[in-house]
Amino acid sequence: MAGSAAVVLLVEDDRSVRETVADVLAEHGFVVIEADSGASARSLLDERTPDVIVLDLGLPDVAGLDLLAAWSSAGAAPVIVLSGRSGEYDRVVCLDLGADDYVVKPFSTRELVSRINAVLRRSTRVAPTGLLHFGALSIDTDAREVLVGSEVRSMTAKEFDLLAFLARSPRQVFTRAQLLHNVWGSSPNWQDENTVAEHVHRVRRKLDATDRDRWIQTVRGVGYRFVAATGDDHPAR
Ligand code: CA
Repeated sequence: MAGSAAVVLLVEDDRSVRETVADVLAEHGFVVIEADSGASARSLLDERTPDVIVLDLGLPDVAGLDLLAAWSSAGAAPVIVLSGRSGEYDRVVCLDLGADDYVVKPFSTRELVSRINAVLRRSTRVAPTGLLHFGALSIDTDAREVLVGSEVRSMTAKEFDLLAFLARSPRQVFTRAQLLHNVWGSSPNWQDENTVAEHVHRVRRKLDATDRDRWIQTVRGVGYRFVAATGDDHPAR
């Protein structure tokens, strides 16, 4: 994340709220992409992968909860919900559907900025040293080196990028299209999604995981996610 501005997809049909929030986020250094409906949010997401989505639940065309459910199960990006309803029930429903945070209208833009920063800190789990550490597996993103125990496992550039990308967001599921976009800078229009499957296969073999889902897990019909065994999913500092 260092050096590149975080991208926020702001989905809000109320123009004055949207413009006010967009201005404040831009002042805080975020790149803001705006959608005034569920349909326009979906088409923007086909083209870009934001770092966080701010989603107003009351949209004219699509139920905000449906968007939330779809995006969190696809691991699109962390979602902060904007809601006009302050009840405990509404909040719990959203968090159960996978929202990362829930902000009640009217809200202060300063508070929204700090919630966004908190979500980004949680989703970008890169230790300051660039070392990701999961039990026996260490990924040094500065040296671009992967170790299992004390043994270096040599990887090609893309194999390394794929593993590091997945490991930065443990448990988050990425579709093959999202991985093509984020790791290859490509898209299914240009590159076969099987490229991803082949690389996953090779990375697994190089990690020599006896259990093939040990670190990179296949989520059937969706994509892949990084998982660490219970007890070793805390990146070391
Ligand atoms: Ca609205």
